[in-house]
Amino acid sequence: MSGYDYPAFLESVRRVRRTAPTGCYYCDVVLPETCGPAATRAMQRLCEERSAFVVDAHHVIPKQVLKREFPEGAVHVREAVHGVAGLVLGESRWLPYDARLALVPPGGDPATWKEHVRTLDDLLMDERNGVLLRRYCHDQIEARNRSIPLLHVPESVIDFANELGLGWYLDKMDDRRTG
Ligand SMILES: [Zn+2]
Repeated sequence: MSGYDYPAFLESVRRVRRTAPTGCYYCDVVLPETCGPAATRAMQRLCEERSAFVVDAHHVIPKQVLKREFPEGAVHVREAVHGVAGLVLGESRWLPYDARLALVPPGGDPATWKEHVRTLDDLLMDERNGVLLRRYCHDQIEARNRSIPLLHVPESVIDFANELGLGWYLDKMDDRRTG
C-alpha cells in the first residue's frame, strides 16, 4: 500500500532517470547549458568531491508544497458542463481531496472510484516529480543557492505539476531566478 518511503522513491526515480552520466541532473544538464565549459568542469569537480558518491532523489515540486496544497491527497473530478446536447462531462482535473467530492458518481462503481483518489503519500511518491542530484548540488538547491531553470525542468515534472494545477509553482520558481 501507500506510505511515503524515501528509498522506494529514490529507486523509482533512478528507474525513470537512468541516463545521467554522473548521476547529478544539475551537473549533467543544467550546468553545461548555463555556464561556460571551464566553469562547468570546475563546478562538476566540486560536486563530485563534496558529494562522496551520494546521490539523492530531489522533489522538484517540493514536498512542503505538496503537503500544503494537498494535505489530504487529491481527488479526480470531472466538471459537468451545459453543452448544446445538454449536460455533458467537461474537463477533468485533480483537486485537493475533500470528502464531499469523493462521492461515487451516479452510476459509478465504488471499486473503481477508489482509483480516483490519490493520497498525499501517492503524490510524494510520484517519480515523475523527481530528479537525481548528487548530495552537494542537492544541498545547494535545498538552500536556494541554485535552482533548476524552468527551461531545464524535465517534461515529466511539468506534466505532474499541470495535472495537479501546480504550474504556478514552476513559474514562481523561474521568476525568482531571473527576477
Ligand atoms: Zn552536481
